[in-house]
Amino acid sequence: MSVYPIDEMIQKFRTLTKQLSYYGEAIELMAWDLRTGAPRAAAPARAETIGGLSEISFRLGNSEEMEQCVQAILTAPEDQVDAVTRRMAVQADRSIRRSKQIPPDQYKEYVILTSEAESVWEEAKAKKDFTLLAPYLEKIIDTLRRFIPIWDIDGLAASHPYNVLLDAFEPGFTVEELDRFFALLQERLVPLVKTIASKSLPEQPWMGLVVPKDAQKTLNRTVLQAVGFDFERGRLDESEHPFACGLHNTDVRITTKYVETDFLNALYSTLHECGHAMYEQQIDDQYMKTNLGTGTSMGVHESQSRFWENAIGRSRSFWDWFFPIMSKQLPDALGGQGFEDFYRALHRVEPSLIRIESDELTYSLHILIRYRLEKALFDGSLAVRDLPKAWNDAYTEILGVTPAHDGEGVLQDVHWSGGAFGYFPSYAIGNVYAAQLLETMGGQIPDWREQVSNGDFSAIRVWLKEHIHTHGSAIDPKPLMERVTGSAFNPEGYIQQLTDKYSVIFDLNR
Ligand code: ZN
Repeated sequence: MSVYPIDEMIQKFRTLTKQLSYYGEAIELMAWDLRTGAPRAAAPARAETIGGLSEISFRLGNSEEMEQCVQAILTAPEDQVDAVTRRMAVQADRSIRRSKQIPPDQYKEYVILTSEAESVWEEAKAKKDFTLLAPYLEKIIDTLRRFIPIWDIDGLAASHPYNVLLDAFEPGFTVEELDRFFALLQERLVPLVKTIASKSLPEQPWMGLVVPKDAQKTLNRTVLQAVGFDFERGRLDESEHPFACGLHNTDVRITTKYVETDFLNALYSTLHECGHAMYEQQIDDQYMKTNLGTGTSMGVHESQSRFWENAIGRSRSFWDWFFPIMSKQLPDALGGQGFEDFYRALHRVEPSLIRIESDELTYSLHILIRYRLEKALFDGSLAVRDLPKAWNDAYTEILGVTPAHDGEGVLQDVHWSGGAFGYFPSYAIGNVYAAQLLETMGGQIPDWREQVSNGDFSAIRVWLKEHIHTHGSAIDPKPLMERVTGSAFNPEGYIQQLTDKYSVIFDLNR
């Protein structure tokens, strides 16, 4: 029984969460600075500060005071706590229960292990030598195996230990559901990819042509401004790996990377990050400086980036609008290619080795491979030392290509060295969610294609704001998608949209 009146506990809880958001904002901003322009020599000192602030914030978030507030709120009669505060307490409770059972020294050891492993990964990738990273991966997986029963507050591990990792990124998803999903992808997409890849590949004459960085910058800004990225509440910078960083709905920063000999690379990664950014820019003010002030899951976040990158950015209507603008701004960039050939070439399908360079159609198959390997690593059916061979076999089976070395195989992604097992499926879930949203939006804004071909994206932006963005983390991903699209997760629609689109472009039905 709480000795304080509930109003006082709510007040205290609100103050504590606000303080946590101050730390979060400071840490994020420092991390952004490290990746965009901080002097190289500053890295160790800044990392120490970030580590120190994280520790203080961790202690605050798991303090006795915080726990008392959360418990008082969760056990108070419904009519004494407003809905937002209750949801904030539910989220805080989940995070406390997950983290407080881990002995702090073990957690600290794990953080050090993964940060060492990330730099070893860089070296291993450069040397194409998996054996350098293997002992670290073994330790990381061992540690996670020990943490899983502790994190398992909902009894998810009983059916599969990997469920617990999955749930941290994508609440509500299990191995059972994803097994079905990825089996469906394999059954339906692999033959489609094979059929298209057997046709002659359309030429991409723009590849290799130099488009100076400044000209690309102007082009990228034109697109961002048109789709509605709010420059009053955000900025665009450059970094080695493009990312989005949401500090507050008034300060959302994205980066891109300009490749002079492939100008569409920056254009699409800018659109992708812009999708993430507009999500954060359009979250309702009432959630700012609370634990609900960001996207609700990795998968829903990724649905927003994929929506703008693929559903809109690779639509015919988008290019009806943008092709003339681009041709005017960069008259030589396309190597003289006309609209129809360009649009077909933009959808070139080619099974490849590298996930981040893959096309719209094969992308989720790269995720399928990672999902199966992760699951096997955690149910004990795959040992770390056998991972490179399992990786290469899976690429040969699913995509028909085989890595020549580990640098373009098992070592290509940073995720595992950082301990992020269970993260990859969110990318594929995001693709499915983007397709569901496109379908629902199409029913509610029937002339969206016409609007886009006129360069008007405002109705789409408002629709996404109203249905997804404004809620921040106030609603879990599955109930949110169910409410907006009528289905918590429906891969059929995603596969059908891809099949329809590519059948038209590559004339498959004749
Ligand atoms: Zn993304």
